[in-house]
Formats: sequence, structure tokens, C-alpha cells
Amino acid sequence: MDKKNIDWENLTFAYTPTDKRYVANFKNGAWDEGGLTDEPNIVMSECAGVLQYAQTCFEGLKAYETADGRIVTFRPDLNADRLIDSAKRLVIPEFPKEKFLDAVDQLVAANAAWVPPYGTGATLYIRPFMFGISPVIGVKPADEYQFRMFCTPVGPYFKGGVKPIVIRVSDYDRAAPHGTGDIKAGLNYAMSLHVIQEAHDQGFGENMYLDPKTRTKVEETGGANFIFVTKDGTIVSPKSDSILPSITRRSLLYVAEHILGMKVEHREVLLSEVPEFVEAGLCGTAAVISPIGQINDHGKVINIPSGMDEMGPVLTKLRETLTGIQMGTVEAPEGWIREIKVK
Ligand SMILES: *Cc1c(COP(=O)(O)O)cnc(C)c1O
Repeated sequence: MDKKNIDWENLTFAYTPTDKRYVANFKNGAWDEGGLTDEPNIVMSECAGVLQYAQTCFEGLKAYETADGRIVTFRPDLNADRLIDSAKRLVIPEFPKEKFLDAVDQLVAANAAWVPPYGTGATLYIRPFMFGISPVIGVKPADEYQFRMFCTPVGPYFKGGVKPIVIRVSDYDRAAPHGTGDIKAGLNYAMSLHVIQEAHDQGFGENMYLDPKTRTKVEETGGANFIFVTKDGTIVSPKSDSILPSITRRSLLYVAEHILGMKVEHREVLLSEVPEFVEAGLCGTAAVISPIGQINDHGKVINIPSGMDEMGPVLTKLRETLTGIQMGTVEAPEGWIREIKVK
């Protein structure tokens, strides 16, 4: 199979339409067969549920070319499960797990020429999403839904090396107690846009959101979970019912404990204990881990000892191990890698 003629190393995180996308429709109480299509545009009622009341949720995962030239996805079963959890909370009909996995396989196989070559640092980002498509004017769930999945090649997250970022403690909340912080809903992002724009205007890379109830505990950023390292090398990640359960974070904690033999704690983290950590990072599918060099709490600066030049040694080791698993150079735990059969 010939790859597309793309300058892979210089891709950014932007949408490039590929050859095929997957679409399934829910009507009269059931999902149809679903399948691939060339059509990237969606025609719907001006009164569609998604447009009026934001009834939509999504996922994000990647396909990788491994060192030995296979194409794989990383733990797509967890994306299928999480999409089901998100859908339930938004009264969207569940998209069956096996159908989801089959859709990922079909989509990636059909777009194999768009999977960036091993070693370029680029990857194929896959975006599954579901939304209410039938008209809704009184506040209620839509009767009809669409499940769609497209993919787009994206560049290496860190161009020219991994540079630590400076973040601020946000005065806004991203989630309410008992709200929707733990599902991947578009609405959680809509309200974060103003907050991230304000952070950028003030020269910060990201926001640290605190727990909405007491504002004393660390939650997450708009789109990534936190991971910290203590002086004695323990990995710590905040636990809360309003944090989105990141698959990257769950995988990193597993790798730390079971492959690297580190001590791991998934627990509540007070903002007041952050100055004691020696390394800090953000984790998510896009970058795996991005390092934090400094946290600004309303003018009070917390300098993370690993500094502003590079990622600390413990997070570097963790990141290298997880990307090694994704790229096939480190042996994966059972069931983590799903190989795509390309015809
Ligand atoms: C998607 C997302 C993450 C990262 O999850 P991954 O499964 O690791 O990509 C973290 N926080 C929020 C709010 C998210 O939406």
C-alpha cells in the first residue's frame, strides 16, 4: 500500500479529511448496519437535538504504524466502554462495543494510506462521536441519532522537543459535583473555551481546575488528567468523581506499577501538597504526557523542581515505555494492542 504524499513531520493537530469515514444511524429504536462513506458533510434539520441542546458526546483515540510495519490501535475497547457511559448520561442510545471495534477496524483499514509512517512522530487520530439528529424543540432527547467516526493524520505533539508549560489555577470550574465532568461530552468543552482563551491571553498554556465543591483539591485541565511524582518516586494522580477517566492516565498508572515496579497512588490531591511534587505532567491521547514546569496560583508561583527545560526523568521513563508499547518496541500487556488487518 502506498502512503499518501504528505509532509508527515510537519503536520499539525488539525483536520485533514481522509478518503473514508464510518456512519451508522439510529432510527425507530435500532442502529442500522452502518458502513463507510466518502461524504464528509452532514445534512440535518435546523432543529436537530445536537444543535439545540448539545446532545452529543465523543471519543478520541489513535492508530499507529509499529516499528515492524503493522497498523495498530491502542485499547479501543476502553473508548467503546467510555462512549457507552457518556451516551447513557446524555440519553443517547448506546453504540454496541463490538460494533464500535469493528467500525474502528474498518475505518483505519480503509484509510491505511493515511496512517503516518513509523518514526515520523505523526499518528492517525480517530474521532468517534454521536449526536441527536432529529428535530427537538421542547427539551427532551431526540428520537434519532447518528454515530460517526472519521480520522485525520496529526503531527507530533511536540515539535523540536518536549518543553514544559506554565499553567494557572483557574477561577472557573469545569464540572459541577454530580455533574458531567466524568463523561466525554461536547458541552464540557463549550464552557471551557472562554477559560482557555483567557489563560492563553494571560500567557498560560493550560488551566488547572480545582474541585468545584471545596476548591482545595486538584482535578484536571480542560482535556487532560494530572500526573505527579513525589520525592521518593511515587506516581500520584488525582481521584474525583468529576474527573474524566483518561485512558492514558489509567494505562500510565498500570505501566508504572506493573512494568516499572513503581509505587502508584490514585487518590485525592490537595492543591497545598503540589509544591512537594518533583515532577508534574498532563496526560491524554494527544501527547501521552506533557510536562508542567510552573503552576501559577493567583500570583503565587509553584516551580516544579524538574524545571522549564525538559521533562523530568520519571515522567520521561513512563512516557517512553507507553509510547514503546504503542509503537510495538515494548511488549504490551495482554489485550492492549489491536492489530488492523489491511487488505
Ligand atoms: C479526553 C479527555 C482526557 C484524556 O483522556 P484520554 O483517554 O487519555 O485521551 C482527559 N480529560 C478530559 C476532560 C478529556 O475530555
